[in-house]
Amino acid sequence: MVSIRTVEIVEVGPRDGLQNEPNVFPTAAKVEFIQRAIEAGLRRIEVASFVNPKRVPQMADAEAVLAALERRSDVHLVGLVLNRRGFDRAAAAGCNEIGMAIVASDTFNQRNQGVSSEQSVADWLEIAGAAHSAGIRPQVTISAAFGCPFEGEVDPARVVELAVRAAEGQPHEIAIADTIGVGVPSQVTDLLGRLRAALPDMPLRCHFHNTRNTGLANAYAAVQAGVATLDASIGGIGGCPFAPAATGNIPTEDLLYMLQRMGVATHVDLEKTLATGRWLQEQLGRNVPGMLVKAGSFPARAA
Ligand code: MG
Repeated sequence: MVSIRTVEIVEVGPRDGLQNEPNVFPTAAKVEFIQRAIEAGLRRIEVASFVNPKRVPQMADAEAVLAALERRSDVHLVGLVLNRRGFDRAAAAGCNEIGMAIVASDTFNQRNQGVSSEQSVADWLEIAGAAHSAGIRPQVTISAAFGCPFEGEVDPARVVELAVRAAEGQPHEIAIADTIGVGVPSQVTDLLGRLRAALPDMPLRCHFHNTRNTGLANAYAAVQAGVATLDASIGGIGGCPFAPAATGNIPTEDLLYMLQRMGVATHVDLEKTLATGRWLQEQLGRNVPGMLVKAGSFPARAA
């Protein structure tokens, strides 16, 4: 039995999906990608990261992407930030939501954002305060919550401890991310149970990668555990420049197919999302990882 009747999907393709692409994806194509997602009914879209363009060249046009996007009161344009400087850029560019990441392992936090996890917690609390003052919705992700490419197993108690400290910044929600795609559903159930016990009133979001083909199973476990918001990327594109062998996010259209056939509402148009997956495949000039792009939906829609 699924207790959740509605799931909100955060489209992360334009940021997490594209950040690892070796060839620069033109600004105009990014803008079209985001517009297509909005047209399909997605209402929270991670549009760019405000990080050092020398380290993540694909995101060097973050300001230009934001400048080209129409502002709608019902759409949250999310900017990923990793420090105060990134937040100031995202705020100036007009993001109405920011996401900050704190990595559960210190080694990965150092590699990803150049400081200790401790420093990132302090940065987050400062950023959250600044965001609230500026009328920007802040949320935070505990990354590598299911395993670290450098340190190995991550203690769930460490994830909970970081989440409890991050909660002091009064985020819109706290996300747990399987950044490198090592988690399995029983881990999802366990970690979410621990987080609920520690933070009973905090909305939770989950971010899964399909590196080892457990992404959709993990999403199912999260929904069963009562999580009402999931990250996904159209076409299942993605990876992490600082995590060896990490591959794509769970594909938005595959997730939509599963949820809709389970009777869970998403308010997102599956056909339009699928068409965008196929468009993305053309733009990238190679196959995307998503399965629905290959198989199509079911039952087939009358022509
Ligand atoms: Mg990710």
